[in-house]
Amino acid sequence: MPIELDERGRALENEYFRQKEKELLEKMKSQISGNDSKSADMQCPRCDGALYETTYEAITIDVCNKCTGVWLDAGELAQVATKEEETGGWFGKIFG
Ligand SMILES: [Zn+2]
Repeated sequence: MPIELDERGRALENEYFRQKEKELLEKMKSQISGNDSKSADMQCPRCDGALYETTYEAITIDVCNKCTGVWLDAGELAQVATKEEETGGWFGKIFG
């Protein structure tokens, strides 16, 4: 019966889009949680202090409010390395 087939086709179509939507949501969630790890209230890897973002020489760094540890993600480290070449060495002065 054509009507039944049509309905079944529509149901499958809905299922397909629901699956696609689910995948998209999962993807968005993982992107959001990825961003969360870089947010200001991240916990210090060394102690139970909280990291806050601050800028030094136009580079964003994460600093612990308890042990004053300085943390960088990959992008920030790349910025530091670039800055290091430009300025000839504040990186060494801080971390050396
Ligand atoms: Zn700390």
